[in-house]
Formats: sequence, C-alpha cells, structure tokens
Amino acid sequence: MLELRWNPILKQWTIVATHRQNRIYKPPKDYCPLCPTKRGGLPTEVPDEDFDIVVFENKFPSLQKGLSEIKEVESEFFNHGKAQGICEVVLFTSEHNVVMSREPLSRYIKLVKVWRDRYQELGQKEFIDYVYIFENKGEEVGVTLEHPHGQIYAYPFIPPIIERELASSKEHLHKKKECLFCRFIREEKSDGRRIITSNDSFTAFIPFFARYAYEVHIYANKHLPSFNDFSEIEEIDLA
Ligand SMILES: [Zn+2]
Ligand SMILES: [Zn+2]
Repeated sequence: MLELRWNPILKQWTIVATHRQNRIYKPPKDYCPLCPTKRGGLPTEVPDEDFDIVVFENKFPSLQKGLSEIKEVESEFFNHGKAQGICEVVLFTSEHNVVMSREPLSRYIKLVKVWRDRYQELGQKEFIDYVYIFENKGEEVGVTLEHPHGQIYAYPFIPPIIERELASSKEHLHKKKECLFCRFIREEKSDGRRIITSNDSFTAFIPFFARYAYEVHIYANKHLPSFNDFSEIEEIDLA
C-alpha cells in the first residue's frame, strides 16, 4: 500500500508506504547492487561493466508514478491522495570504495550537471511540485548501501519546511521589497565570522541560527533561484 494521507492537525501530507518494510537490509557480503555488473557475476542495477555517473529509478520508492486512483471512499475528515512521484538513485562513481572528497573536481562538475538535468526534467512534469536532491550517508541514518550515491525525490506536493520558507520569503519581499535569501547572505558576509569559504559564485557558511555543529549552508552570491537559472560557470563554481 502506498498513498498520501492528510494530517489536518499539522496541515501536511504524510507518505504511507508499507512495502518499504520488505526492502533488502544488508546485502550479502561482497555483493553491491550499485556496482557495475561484472562479467559472469550477479546482475546489479547497472547492466554495464563500467559507468561514469548513473541515474535510475529507485526499486523501493516512497513515491511512484502511474499509480491508480485511490478506490477507498474518502470520509469527510480523512483525506487520501495519490503518492504520485518519482524517486531516483544517483551513482556518483562506478568505484565502490571511492571517498568522494578525494575525487577530482571534474567528477563534481559532472555530478552538478546531472543534478541540473534531473531537476529540470523531473520539475517539468505536471504532477511534480518539488524536486529534492539529497545524500544520506552511514548506517546510523538508515543507509544500507555503502556505494557512493545520492537520491532524488520528486514530490507531488511542496514539503512543509519548504512551504514555510516560501511563505517567509514572500512575506519579506512584501514588507521589505527585497529577497530574503539575498539579504541573509549579505548579512552573513558583512559579519564574516561564520564564513568558511567562497568563490566568485558561492559562499559557504555556518548560519547565525545553526541547529547542528558542522551545519554548513551554501548560498549563491547573486540572486539565483534554482538550478534552472545556473550558467556553466556556476556549475563549475558550485562543484
Ligand atoms: Zn558498489
Ligand atoms: Zn535572492
């Protein structure tokens, strides 16, 4: 069963997916489903013997495309919705043991290009309201596969935190006639104490209101709303 359920108290959708319980936990030793398929070896997610960067749809997604309509009669109070969306996996490299921070800049530039491509393609679909590109790492956060990879969730709704961010930036624009994010990065730069590094296009800093140690935010120096607005120089500078 896979569906959206509306929580009228928090005013947000919850994705209810029962099939995720059945996903593989730890694969057998030496078998990685994200490595290229070796000649004569067990087939993996990638049928080729080598690759650079690969994107494929998640086998155990929390969101799926092409779902049928929810048949259950909706009560006046409990609302269901279709968990219509797309989950993708991005393999950063074919090398299982690579430490990404030691990879050359060229790999990161390719990765940013892949992110942009997926952001644009998924974001254009009429049932997608938000594209979330992320990476979780380590068993502690439930990542069962070691192979360097990230994920992309294309949501059929705007997640609540993003909705709040949009609401406050709208409010700020209305009241102060300026972009909230541009103002924020300007303030951080003029304070300067929390800036970690910067280049022509981006600045990395620990925000004034950080909740975690090592919480780093990366902001564009100029008003740059999304991946759709990137130039090639910004791809390189983000990498
Ligand atoms: Zn692997
Ligand atoms: Zn701005």
